[in-house]
Amino acid sequence: MKDIEISVVIPVYNEEVHIAGSLRTVVEQLRKTTSSFEIIVIDDGSRDETWSKLSSLGQQLPELYSYRLSRNFGKEYALCAGLDQARGRAVIIMDSDMQHPPSLLSQMIQLWRNEGKQIVECVKVNRGKERFDKALGASLFYRLLNRLSGMDLRGASDFKLLDRRIVDAWKLMPERNTFFRGMTAWVGFERAQIPFEVPERVGGNSQWSLFSLIKLAVQAIVAFSSIPLRIVNLFGVIFLIGSVLLGIQTLVRYFMGTAVSGFTTVILLLLFTGSLILISLGIMGEYMASIYMEVKGRPRYFIREAAYGAASKEMLDY
Ligand code: UDP
Ligand code: MG
Repeated sequence: MKDIEISVVIPVYNEEVHIAGSLRTVVEQLRKTTSSFEIIVIDDGSRDETWSKLSSLGQQLPELYSYRLSRNFGKEYALCAGLDQARGRAVIIMDSDMQHPPSLLSQMIQLWRNEGKQIVECVKVNRGKERFDKALGASLFYRLLNRLSGMDLRGASDFKLLDRRIVDAWKLMPERNTFFRGMTAWVGFERAQIPFEVPERVGGNSQWSLFSLIKLAVQAIVAFSSIPLRIVNLFGVIFLIGSVLLGIQTLVRYFMGTAVSGFTTVILLLLFTGSLILISLGIMGEYMASIYMEVKGRPRYFIREAAYGAASKEMLDY
């Protein structure tokens, strides 16, 4: 098979407006630095015209390989699909909305090619124009994750170059609940960072709802830390001590015949313990749900169809 130097993996979901323009810009930038590349676009079950655009774009962009997932699996799984398809000696992951500036591509490739960095990550110095609640949520999430798992992902983005060895290492991680940013930090290896400012989206809207971001955050925390479970335990112990003390006091008063009508205390205690128990159960539930997903061991995604650019014929002949 022909040797491919760089694979660029791009997950897309409902990006019909600008997908063609974005891909052209990416190809232009790539041609400046490498003569051997492929672009792998994963259509994550778009409901607009994205797929028909992608399949016809293959005529103009010979290096384009498009895969269409059977439904919307979410960006994390689209990324998995892309990494599975990529054949290059290095794989670059980027968004389709130009919020990951293609102008950085050559710098990333240089760092890998000339300095032997195995992971090149682009780090956000500002988060671009973002809704207040999302920015606040993200900042809280990264702080929490840092505290709980010791991983500092502040400013981390999915805009990364991975050497073939990292991609192979990634593929050895069998979990269904993937968190790309966390997992690429976890594998180690030698890395370089490039700071960048997040520009505005070229068109369309972000496909993440606040709810889907919260879901991703919970998934990530559950996947990378078991401290929440231990906190539940700690609460249990603290409450046990408290209730033993309270029990002794109640008994003493009972025998002294001075038992009082501590109604407020009882109600407050009831509410407090009740909610603590519910929260604890919720935390356990999250871990259980995650174990359940892993045990089922379902495939992460299904590919419905593929469309190859003109270069593929030459590729397949090798
Ligand atoms: N995306 C995807 N599946 C989804 C949601 C998003 O493949 O379910 C893609 C999207 O097309 C884009 C990238 O993931 O290329 C980043 O998405 P977006 O710009 O909506 O996220 P944000 O920039 O707000 O983090
Ligand atoms: Mg975006």
